[in-house]
Amino acid sequence: MTAKNKLNAYKKRRHFAKTPEPIGTKQTPSKRPIFVVQKHAARQLHYDFRLESDGVLKSWAIPKGPSTSPKEKRLAIMTDDHPLAYAHFEGTIPKGEYGAGTVKIWDKGTYRNLKKKNGKIVPIKQCIKNGEIEVWLNGKKLKGGYVLIHFKPEEQSWLFKKMADEKKKKSETKGKAYARRALHG
Ligand code: MN
Repeated sequence: MTAKNKLNAYKKRRHFAKTPEPIGTKQTPSKRPIFVVQKHAARQLHYDFRLESDGVLKSWAIPKGPSTSPKEKRLAIMTDDHPLAYAHFEGTIPKGEYGAGTVKIWDKGTYRNLKKKNGKIVPIKQCIKNGEIEVWLNGKKLKGGYVLIHFKPEEQSWLFKKMADEKKKKSETKGKAYARRALHG
């Protein structure tokens, strides 16, 4: 599916003459893939977590918002793909329109894909298909390793969770060991 086709559902739900949201025709991938979290004061307040993949922003609505504690799992419901331009969007969607309410950027930054299989990075597109995402987020509020797990395949229900520090430390130590070996042969 091309990025254009992926946005059909997004476009279908919106009247661009009425909403200030971007139509998003330009789909040039970022130099470094990005993520954004938007606080969306719709009928029910939620946080939209969006991750760049393949020219669009894959999107999840997190009702309780992301937690920076590895002990707290958050439900994340996968929603329509959004255009990349949506990462910059802040504004008020008028009453009567889809998602009516105010959208504010809560956090944003770049991310690094951490998911490996047999020592090789699994492309993010494949991670989404497999329902297993591991990313390193370089945001202001969200920093470090985070996982998204599609735990109910028959529904759009995923889990959003900070990686345990132990795992993080382990990979850091590994990184240092590699660096040492590289330095000292
Ligand atoms: Mn939303």
